[in-house]
Amino acid sequence: RAKAEGRGCWRFFEPDMDARMQRRRTLELDLRRALLTGGFELFYQPVIDLASRRISGLEALLRWQHPERGLVLPAAFMPLAEEIGLIVPIGEWVLARACADAAGWPGRLRVAVNLSPTQFAHRGLVDVIAAALDRSGLDPARLELEITEAVMLHDTGATLARLHRLKSLGVRIVMDDFGTGTSSLSYLRRFPFDKVKIDRSFTRELEQSRQSHAIVRAVTDMCSALSVVTTAEGVETEAQLQTLCEDGCGEAQGNLFSHPLPAAEIMGLLARQ
Ligand code: C2E
Ligand code: MG
Ligand code: MG
Ligand code: MG
Repeated sequence: RAKAEGRGCWRFFEPDMDARMQRRRTLELDLRRALLTGGFELFYQPVIDLASRRISGLEALLRWQHPERGLVLPAAFMPLAEEIGLIVPIGEWVLARACADAAGWPGRLRVAVNLSPTQFAHRGLVDVIAAALDRSGLDPARLELEITEAVMLHDTGATLARLHRLKSLGVRIVMDDFGTGTSSLSYLRRFPFDKVKIDRSFTRELEQSRQSHAIVRAVTDMCSALSVVTTAEGVETEAQLQTLCEDGCGEAQGNLFSHPLPAAEIMGLLARQ
């Protein structure tokens, strides 16, 4: 069967390549099945507003409840889902689920949803987001869309037009993993971001590296001058939190406050705060 699937290039196959193709095929079938049978789940991680020390929103993080492998993290399946385009229907499910969940949360809490490059480039995106907002009744101002620099690499004209269409829905646009790409600053100038998430690699080095600390301080200063909110990712220690507060960072997210939690635990968490 593996031979038949590899028709046309079978002569290049090494036995281990064959096995790799087979694993990939299995993963693909498993993913398609999960989409049809409700195998995906959203976890949520709180984002803390540092001025009030209260939860200002939650980031939706995709999990796959695999029948044999248990809970699978995005790193293990997103690259393939992205490559075969399955991220588009998965992402549609994520948007609908996240908006519906957030509509049931108290107060004005925001929900952040990650968008991958393939999703962002897909023609149906704006309609999918409008439909998710419509069906859930969620105020668009409470939805944040997180995109990485990989989204902005191609065709900046079309990307800019699309970002403006999204903004005209009333949602907020967030640059995720800020500082890991090659031209973060030029993207910040060209695109209409409401928020910047400083990558976890900077937070992690905050105490050890004067360079990282200086960059974090400069980014928070610059963003506050541009009226862009800053969120530090991956905050794990009190010392990091202290430094981020001193540097004027707006929000923090990380295991110090809470790991990502199943949706069912979120109402309890919110009630306790
Ligand atoms: P991200 O958007 O940068 O999400 C933050 C990641 O950091 C999450 O990993 C989260 O669990 C992890 N994290 C949070 N706090 C800490 C901490 O204190 N220490 C450490 N070491 N890690 C922390 P996760 O859930 O494995 O997601 C990885 C990436 O997968 C996300 O990075 C995002 O790019 C992507 N992703 C997740 N869910 C979705 C989704 O629904 N759609 C799309 N397109 N991408 C998603
Ligand atoms: Mg994110
Ligand atoms: Mg991130
Ligand atoms: Mg990341």
